[in-house]
Amino acid sequence: MKPLLIVMSAPSGAGKSTLCDLLLQEFPEITYSISCTTRAPRGEEEDGVDYFFLSPGEFERWVAEGRLLEHATVHGNRYGTPAGPVREAFAEGQSVLMDIDVVGAAAVRRYVEALPAGDPLREGFVDIFIEPPSVAELRRRLEGRGEDSPESIETRLKNAEGELARAHEFAYRVVNDDLRMAYNRLRDILLVKGGEL
Ligand code: 5GP
Repeated sequence: MKPLLIVMSAPSGAGKSTLCDLLLQEFPEITYSISCTTRAPRGEEEDGVDYFFLSPGEFERWVAEGRLLEHATVHGNRYGTPAGPVREAFAEGQSVLMDIDVVGAAAVRRYVEALPAGDPLREGFVDIFIEPPSVAELRRRLEGRGEDSPESIETRLKNAEGELARAHEFAYRVVNDDLRMAYNRLRDILLVKGGEL
């Protein structure tokens, strides 16, 4: 597959993490971009695996040092994509998968569009929005996973409205009603874009 810069966004609870995990299992040539964040680790999350967990001061230093390709505030916490690993993976012919919010996705879109035609990052850019079947289903899923406090669930649902309103900015939209069907659609998009179909 030609190297792809895959950007996936979704409201929290749409099933994006599961879809990302399935992709990473099937395609070893895709590297997951580990973001940094100021939020506290959840459940089994590990520093350097799921996220780089930074203090607000450290995060600001990374921004000031130009170490982030994009950054945004999501649900009251700071999140950002370290630029180095993305460039290194691409230089090695790997694809990169970024699981970021709609603001970060727009920043990456602007970044690649400013690159000269023919630049591999620009050529390989593909942005996909994962949609839940409905907001009611999103609430059911967030409550069912039991990871977030009731306040956090309300914040995430409120933010979901804003994120859903920006779904049209993405080149591709995949509704995650049935996981297997959503995965197959996602896979087809990447295989076509990567020149395999
Ligand atoms: P969570 O706290 O549930 O892991 O992630 C919350 C939101 O932050 C998700 O929508 C996720 O895609 C987004 N996010 C995670 N990493 C980044 C990042 O590096 N940049 C941006 N802009 N958003 C991120």
